[in-house]
Amino acid sequence: MTQDTTASMAEWRVTLRSTLGDDIVLSETHEMLPYCRDWHGDVTSNAVAVLRPRSTEQVAQAVKLCRELGLSIVPQGGNTGLVLGATPDADANQVVLSLERMNKIRQIDADDFSAVVEAGCILSELKDAIAEKGMFFPLALGAQGTCRIGGNVSTNAGGINVLRYGMTRELIFGLEVVLPDGSIFDGLSTLRKDNRGIDLKQLFIGAEGTLGIITAVSVKLTPYPDQVATALLGLASLDDAIKLFRRARRDCCDLMSAFEFMPPLAFTLAKEAMPDLPIPIAADYPAYVLMEISGSGLVDIDDLMGRFLEAVMEEGIVLDGTIAASQTQARNLWLIREGMNEGQAKRGMHLRTDVSVKLSQLANFVADAEKAVCEAVPGAVCVSYGHVGDGNVHLNVLPVAEATPEQRVEQIYKAKGAINAVLDRYQGSISAEHGIGRLKRADFETRLSPVRRTLLTALKQAIDPNMVMNPGCQLKIAPNS
Ligand code: FAD
Repeated sequence: MTQDTTASMAEWRVTLRSTLGDDIVLSETHEMLPYCRDWHGDVTSNAVAVLRPRSTEQVAQAVKLCRELGLSIVPQGGNTGLVLGATPDADANQVVLSLERMNKIRQIDADDFSAVVEAGCILSELKDAIAEKGMFFPLALGAQGTCRIGGNVSTNAGGINVLRYGMTRELIFGLEVVLPDGSIFDGLSTLRKDNRGIDLKQLFIGAEGTLGIITAVSVKLTPYPDQVATALLGLASLDDAIKLFRRARRDCCDLMSAFEFMPPLAFTLAKEAMPDLPIPIAADYPAYVLMEISGSGLVDIDDLMGRFLEAVMEEGIVLDGTIAASQTQARNLWLIREGMNEGQAKRGMHLRTDVSVKLSQLANFVADAEKAVCEAVPGAVCVSYGHVGDGNVHLNVLPVAEATPEQRVEQIYKAKGAINAVLDRYQGSISAEHGIGRLKRADFETRLSPVRRTLLTALKQAIDPNMVMNPGCQLKIAPNS
């Protein structure tokens, strides 16, 4: 850092404190550290300050001030994003604006099947408060105890219930957003139908904080599914898992709420993270599916699951299976899915991908991509799993165990290149649900068509001409001249 930058840094901090108040501004390195480090702890950066406003008006005031000072803003929710979108990059003039103190539930309306909540609400707390009223907010992901609804909207998060309820975009009625000039867009309607022209809220969903700061969200609710049946099934192949998925959609009246695919290595990895975790099925089938059907009211979900599994086992699509007999057993089955992530983390730095292809091509894609990885990095281990009902697979790669940190980086780079080359052949997406952030920007930019780039650039320059909001995230775009 040059002397000039250090001097500006000190001046910026004084101005931020004197205008916004000491209560809102953090600027000591140790205080800012948790906000400047990504979820996996792979990358730590620095910020001018971390701002923690308590109201929409305070957010607006902070945005106006940052714009005047020439500072840019990185919005942050729970900082569980996996693509380096919520932490600053190497530029010296960024502040992090955390929504963590804006965590009030403004209203839950069971008659209208809607709720209005501040952007900093933790997802699981929001779901619990809604459940207390007999209602259900279907967004569900492994990070739900930490991620916040504003972050979920900004990443258009997916998760395990997408196949039944859709991505976050489909769960939103409206948004309140502080725009890059500090003005407030009040779009918090809870109207189910509203076709008055272009639906502006869509601009901010999945924008990863590049067009404004979401301060509140109105969400769609459904009746609480008080009956849930969860089963762990052993199959002969991923191909059979996809056959099973198609059958389940038809035979279970579209009441299937989750369908997660796992390889046999899942059990080893889960045990490495949670040694006491019970594994209630033989661990030597080539493929596993964790399936859930759920419903409320007069449907008999246990009976439906029982009859469905009887039929598919008779036909030989499913080779073995266990149905959870209690909530604890169901929770333990989900812990296998969650534990496999922790197990991978325990094996050190590795490649994490989040790709999608058409469902009909998924099994061929995984076979081709794993083969390409084995050729590019002999000895590396592929771990392919995920929300396969959505055509979404996390094709992760664990480098050779003995590799040095430098060799790991090189192997990760080669494996990513091999996977992306196959993915391009299948015309798939490099980001099914995690977004682009800073981590995937280069891969995103090289795949952008000129027309799409022009549209995205025009949009950003129109809404944020001074590049105040999260510059360097998703795309590098120059300010308007
Ligand atoms: P952050 O990480 O804080 O931010 C994410 C992005 O949104 C950043 O670009 C940030 O600048 C922007 N942002 C945050 N808040 C706002 C706001 N209020 N206004 C404007 N911009 C904002 N993702 C899935 O989609 N599906 C999964 O199944 C899934 N599983 C996960 C499991 C684990 C264990 C972990 C660690 C992550 C998982 N993720 C998953 C990724 C992550 O949890 C989601 O992307 C989540 O939606 C991020 O929410 P957050 O509050 O942590 O956002």
